[in-house]
Amino acid sequence: MTDMQKKSFGTMLSPIRAGQHMLRNRVIMGSMHTRLETEPDSIARQIAFYAERARGEAAILVTGGFAPNAEGMFDPEGPRIDDPEDARSLRPICEAVQAEGSLICAQLLHAGRYAKIEGCVAPSPIRAPINRFVPREMTDADIRRTIEDFAKAAENAQAAGFDGVEIMGSEGYLINEFTVTHTNKREDEWGGSAENRHRFSVEIVRAVRERCGSDFLVIYRISAADLVEGGAPAEEIADLARKIEAAGADILNTGIGWHEARVPTIAYQVPRGAWRQAAANVKAAVSIPVVASNRINTPEIAEDILASGEADMISMARPFLADPHFVKKTREGRADEINTCIACNQACLDFIFSDRPVGCLVNPRAGRETEFRDSPTESPKKVAVVGGGAAGMATASEAAMLGHDVTLFEAQDKLGGQLNLAQAAPGKDEFNETLRYYGGQLQKHGVKLRLGQRAGSDDLTDFDHVVISTGVTPRIPDLPGIDHPSVATYAEILSGNRAAGDTVVVMGAGGIGHDVAEFLVTEPAETHNTDAFCETWGVDPHFTTSGALAGDPLAPKPSRRKVVMLQRKTSKAGAGLGVSTGWILRNALRKHGVEALGGVVYDRIDDAGLHIVMDGEPKIIAADTIVLCTGQEPERALAEELIAQGVTVTMIGGAKEAAELDALRAIDEGVRLAQSL
Ligand code: NAP
Ligand code: SF4
Repeated sequence: MTDMQKKSFGTMLSPIRAGQHMLRNRVIMGSMHTRLETEPDSIARQIAFYAERARGEAAILVTGGFAPNAEGMFDPEGPRIDDPEDARSLRPICEAVQAEGSLICAQLLHAGRYAKIEGCVAPSPIRAPINRFVPREMTDADIRRTIEDFAKAAENAQAAGFDGVEIMGSEGYLINEFTVTHTNKREDEWGGSAENRHRFSVEIVRAVRERCGSDFLVIYRISAADLVEGGAPAEEIADLARKIEAAGADILNTGIGWHEARVPTIAYQVPRGAWRQAAANVKAAVSIPVVASNRINTPEIAEDILASGEADMISMARPFLADPHFVKKTREGRADEINTCIACNQACLDFIFSDRPVGCLVNPRAGRETEFRDSPTESPKKVAVVGGGAAGMATASEAAMLGHDVTLFEAQDKLGGQLNLAQAAPGKDEFNETLRYYGGQLQKHGVKLRLGQRAGSDDLTDFDHVVISTGVTPRIPDLPGIDHPSVATYAEILSGNRAAGDTVVVMGAGGIGHDVAEFLVTEPAETHNTDAFCETWGVDPHFTTSGALAGDPLAPKPSRRKVVMLQRKTSKAGAGLGVSTGWILRNALRKHGVEALGGVVYDRIDDAGLHIVMDGEPKIIAADTIVLCTGQEPERALAEELIAQGVTVTMIGGAKEAAELDALRAIDEGVRLAQSL
């Protein structure tokens, strides 16, 4: 029995009563935008998506947000539930989930001033910094009609077969906009005092309860920390929680941070469980179950929060993309087989922001369930996979799971390839979970591991299929002085084989350049300790102040080193970073005083430092260390040798295409190749 199997997750797995329902455990799959609603075969894909997560035994699944009326739509394509006929088309999704023993609740989300539509509405006509549309101030009649729209939407959901609804009252959407002075400047009965600002939320809950009866589950998602100036202090949040309970809600879920907040809330830079105290504050005010959410991604942290009494239930969203069977594996003593969400946002939020259906970096099946099969192959092959990085591990474990006879060669004495480097960046040690997961899968499915063995063509003669996933090597620019002792590759720095000095030049401002710069300036505690994280980003660790802020999230931080980051392009440094994490990286570097210079021409390196030309002027940037983050070249020596011998090989990952290689493409290619063997 492994250490993980010996651990007890008794609280998390124990039933709990909510309203008229006895829930099978204390885990909710939280609401996520999926964009599956607008895909071809929308209903079939949603059935596959939600039913798989119900088979994984989450007690309640909450859908992505449905607008209760046209002006509340997230964007012109966004899902809505104001038409009873349309709502009924969702019935097969509900039935599929319920057949697997889970409850399903439709989230009702009015986007308010975040709606990316002409004619969006808000309590007051104040534009959101993340939206170009200026909202129209709602009239008293608008407000009363919208309360009625929420009630009708809940009724439509009930008629379609949903077990309940979650009323979205957090993250800065319409309901949340009413509750705080940041966005509510009204002087009528819907603004001013807390009593007035809370009226809209309370009336919605009351109307939904009255319309749908006592056995319809009503979850209200309360903002437990707004993280914006003019946000609610803890006593107002507690006061609202009590009113929501009295109005008839069965469960209080918690949300953290408005979308316009300048504090990271769910990305990998946030310590696990960082927001648990915010949920505990809400729990202290009410007697209905309170749910903790955000940056909870393992059964250990979930159990710890529940067992310590800080919350009654846990909501996890992205962890159910990464592994739909999170709860089932935990119940079966297989928690060490969970594919853990690494909080990278690369294929979930970033896909949604680029109008693609939701996906997951560590689980290519997420949102694409109908494209993959789990049944064993009818024609098992002998497969060699050369290179044990993300692409190779994904290929080998998937192929072996499907019944192929797989041997994985890795020249290093450990698996992981570039993931071993990536995990050194602040917060990216979450990648160690991916390494743990694949290590376990390779063993479970009987992959023969040849670690510390650089495969040659002689080793590969006896296979039906040879997969080359030999990865990349750092690109070394052709520059006079490039072999100067001050020069190091990103691989040497991140692996710890070389230490950087006090003044550093980072050449290259792509994803790795930013990671290396952050690694060089950040104290490890800032991403692993909640108090240090709160201090860095200006958050009140007790969550009692207005908006739970205790300072300026962008205030400068002392840095371990002086770092200058350079690129030849004139575009903004980091323009290609992920939408949902790029701003955090850029702000973190700015806070730590990292200077980013573009439009640079590299000239040479010598004892004086890096010689460049900028705006036609020659300059010298003195540096103890110059780190090359100048891209990668594919490692194809073996592939070329084999091809020359007439051996058929399939190249994937960085070996196939080094440009823009990341773990997302590597794992996706690996799994899809294995499926096609
Ligand atoms: P990248 O993002 O393409 O950046 C490469 C950098 O090297 C660019 O700044 C480029 O800028 C510079 N460069 C390229 N050729 C050069 C040359 N011959 N001489 C000098 N400079 C040169 O690639 P990466 O940073 O190596 O990252 C690899 C992949 O991993 C990318 O897909 C990246 O998006 C991904 N990744 C993402 C993240 C993240 O989003 N947080 C983190 C790590 C990695 P100039 O040409 O303008 O100088
Ligand atoms: Fe988690 Fe990253 Fe997958 Fe999103 S893409 S669910 S953050 S692992």
